[in-house]
Formats: sequence, C-alpha cells, structure tokens
Amino acid sequence: MKKIYFDNNATTPIHSEVFDAMLPYLKDEFGNPSSIHWAGRNPRRVVDDAREKVTKLLNCDANEIIFTSCGSESNNLAIKGIAESKKDKGNHIITTKVEHPAVLSTCKYLAKTGFDVTFLDVDNHGMLDLDQLKKAITQKTILITVMFSNNETGVIFPIEEIGKIAKEHSIPFHTDAVQGVGKVPIDVKKMNVDLLTLSGHKLYAPKGIGALYVKRGVRLVPLIHGGHQERNRRGGTENVAGIVALGKACEIAARDMEQEIKYITALRDRLEKGLMQRITHVRLNGHPTKRIPNTVNLSFEFAEGESLLLNLDMKGIAASSGSACTSGTLEPSHVLVAMGVPLEASHSSVRFSLGRGNTIEDIDYVIEVLPTMVERMRSMSPLYSTITGKATNITFSESNCSH
Ligand SMILES: *Cc1c(COP(=O)(O)O)cnc(C)c1O
Repeated sequence: MKKIYFDNNATTPIHSEVFDAMLPYLKDEFGNPSSIHWAGRNPRRVVDDAREKVTKLLNCDANEIIFTSCGSESNNLAIKGIAESKKDKGNHIITTKVEHPAVLSTCKYLAKTGFDVTFLDVDNHGMLDLDQLKKAITQKTILITVMFSNNETGVIFPIEEIGKIAKEHSIPFHTDAVQGVGKVPIDVKKMNVDLLTLSGHKLYAPKGIGALYVKRGVRLVPLIHGGHQERNRRGGTENVAGIVALGKACEIAARDMEQEIKYITALRDRLEKGLMQRITHVRLNGHPTKRIPNTVNLSFEFAEGESLLLNLDMKGIAASSGSACTSGTLEPSHVLVAMGVPLEASHSSVRFSLGRGNTIEDIDYVIEVLPTMVERMRSMSPLYSTITGKATNITFSESNCSH
C-alpha cells in the first residue's frame, strides 16, 4: 500500500541530515555539557553551536534562546513566566479564541488563579481584528499572546502590526510560532516580538526539544527551578542530542526555505484546486491568501470528516480532522467554531498539511481517490439528497466516532 503523509502540522519526520547530526550525542558523545572534564567539552561546544543556528533563523542573539522540552513547555514558560513576574503591575492577559491548547489551557488556568483573560474573536476567514485588540488593552494588561499561524487552518496573523501595538503600550508580546518557524521567514526584531515559541518536531527535528526566544531585558520567572542551565531560566541537564538536532533543523530551514516555499505552495495549490474542481459543496476553512504554504483545511459538506479520514487511511493517506473526537461525542474544533463555520460543515472538515517529503504523485493520488469517497458518503446522507434531489441509498446516517 502507498503511504502518503499529509499531517505535517501534527508532526514531521526527522530529516536525514538532522538524524546524522544528532546520533553521536546519543552514543559516544554522552558527556554532560556542565562538566569541566574532557567528556563535557564537545557537548558544550555543540550546544553553543546549535544555539547560534537557532538565532540565525529568527534574527536574535544566543543568550535570548532558552532550550525547552517542547512547544507546550515554551508556551507555559512564556505565559506563566510573564504572568508571575508582572503580577504586581497588573493581571490582564490578551489572547485569541483560536490558540493551540498549550496556550488556551494555560490562559484558562491563569484565569482561575486571579488573572483576567480576554479571548479575542476572529472573522470568517479566521483573521484577527486589530481594532478589537487595541480596544482590549487596559492599564492592567501585562501580556499579549497571539499565535503566529494557526495549526488547523494555516492562517497567518498580522504579527508585525500586533508587535507595533504591543510596543506602543510597552506590553510584552509572545507569539506561539510553532507552525511558522521554518515555513516562512521570521524576524523577531522587525516584528517586535518579545517572546517566541518553537518546537523541534514540527520542523523535521525529533520530539522532545523546543525553544523559547526571550528578548534581552524581558524578565520571566522559571517554570523549572534547578541548576544553572540556560542561564538559570530552565533547570535540567541539556538534551544535547535534541538541541543539536534542533540547531541542524533550523540551519536546513534557513538554507532551503525559499525553494521549499515555492515547492510546497505549488503542491498545496494543486491539491486545493484539484479537489475544489472535482467535488461540489467544498468550502475552504481559512484565509484564501494569508496562510502558511503547507496547509489547507476543507469542509466536504454532507460527508462526515472522521469517516473520510478513516477511508483515506485505508488508502494509505494520513490526514487530520478539524474535529477532536472526545469520549464518544464529536466535539467540533474550537477554531472552526470561533470562525463561525456552521456545525455541519465543521464536522466535515479535513486538514491536509504538506511537507518537504510530498510529491506531485501524492497530490494526484488524493485528487483521484477522494471524490469517489465523498460521493459515496453523500449518497448516504438524507440531507444531501434533499438538497440535490438525488436518491438516498441508505436512509440512516451512521455515527462514526471511532477510538
Ligand atoms: C504542535 C503545536 C504546539 C505544541 O508543541 P509540542 O512540541 O507538541 O508541545 C503548540 N502550538 C502549536 C501551534 C502547535 O501546532
């Protein structure tokens, strides 16, 4: 069976150059970077070297990078770290309704412990209204945390403009850029970003390594108190192999980005156009142009998203749903709900997130097999037959929440 991977926003395979670079640090080069003897010397050197590589991708300085265990930890460190250090100045945090759970849940947790959180709306394209953001700012606002690009729809927020607004009000600005780093150019200085989250496994490095950029002078209370690692901002012996991998992945991303943006955009557009031409009642969830190159989220109305995913999986195609299947009930995606996508359409959404491993053949295969699947599923939908006047084959609609 073919194996086609269209779920790169969930995780990416490790790049072979990344794998080769990290391997020695899982084997012979086992030393602790804090040791002063021979065993620690090379590990220390390569950690410093990797830090430099991360800074080049973001345009920052080495002492502005904190290595963490993942994107979720970086988001927690940024948000809780600022909240804790600024709690004497105010208790108001601004975020959006469409953030990744690592930001949303952290903000909801803080809301339970005395902080006041504003969750900004988005429009039908999943885009933020800057006037709404400006109006939300108060004397007590101590943090703005807005994602760089959305993991479900790919929509890119106006980060530079938000950075400008935050700077005018002297409010620290954090962005969860896990879905932006490596995909599009990012310049933290130009964008006036004070804190930025990235994660290795969304960028062709392994799981278990992440980083947080913290602008010089921005104070935050650590999550993990311990040794002097990461300049006292994150205790714990360094994940040397992971750090080397992340450095290498950032180096490759900087090197190949221009060419990759062209390649992946062309594939994504071919997929999007191909499916929209061959299938009726398809709706694009997200902004038509302001999107990261690799993501397309489509609703195949009157077909059930989870069933489509199962059918795609049977053909070896890995994609993802906008809906999360929790305890037997099909919860619509919080992102699509915030965008005002009708419930029916949100249940028929499928996200394709492409990567550098995909080919034209992969795209054409999906374009070939998906229309039949959608048609078959729609033929079981009484609603679809009412709307289109087509006969229904089967008169019950299945519940397809599988675990
Ligand atoms: C995957 C993801 C995260 C979480 O990163 P982990 O390294 O898996 O913890 C955070 N934010 C966004 C937007 C993501 O896509």
